[in-house]
Amino acid sequence: MQHNAKKVYPLKNSRKEKDTIEEIRKLGKKYNINEIIPLSTSDICVAQWVRLKCKYGCNKYGTSWCCPPETPAPDKTQAFLNEYKKALLLCGTITNGHFYRDNQKKRRIQINTWKGTVALERYLFLAGYYKAFSLVSENCALCKECSYPDECKFPTDRRPSVESCSIDVFQTLRNIGKPFRIAHDVTEEYNCYSIILLE
Ligand code: SF4
Repeated sequence: MQHNAKKVYPLKNSRKEKDTIEEIRKLGKKYNINEIIPLSTSDICVAQWVRLKCKYGCNKYGTSWCCPPETPAPDKTQAFLNEYKKALLLCGTITNGHFYRDNQKKRRIQINTWKGTVALERYLFLAGYYKAFSLVSENCALCKECSYPDECKFPTDRRPSVESCSIDVFQTLRNIGKPFRIAHDVTEEYNCYSIILLE
């Protein structure tokens, strides 16, 4: 199936829900989240290959509470996605010429987006979306060094990342007709994507 036109899945057509989304759009801007797109959870693609990329090729594997093997395997991810119908895709744009070179700067940007996603989840919970749950972008950078396998230092902010749950972000973007490009150089702008499962 080809996905060209941008598909948008409105939340329930009530004034209150539209206002809630508008509010979190405003709130998101403070955290470098510049676009929030409602989508159906059936458009979220879960794939086995994503787990392989974590295990072979990422130095975070087995070093964090928010990365595999701690995070749900693909079948478990699909099972909890099946408990939701609606979600929000949070898109951020990051220009970070220090990517890889200045880990501290990269970390500050990551933390801001991470905290923003959790703040939006909390806002939605208090607005009545009691199942709201975030899958954040990239790896957890809240601590300079993750205490894994010892006790997590910020368990209330801890969430699994989108990729660590074997979600194929690119296919998900294709499924909703959202164009994307891959950064080829460390100085290029790149996008980060988080998901909040709603209800
Ligand atoms: S909050 Fe700290 S200890 Fe917990 S998963 Fe994140 S980096 Fe690791």
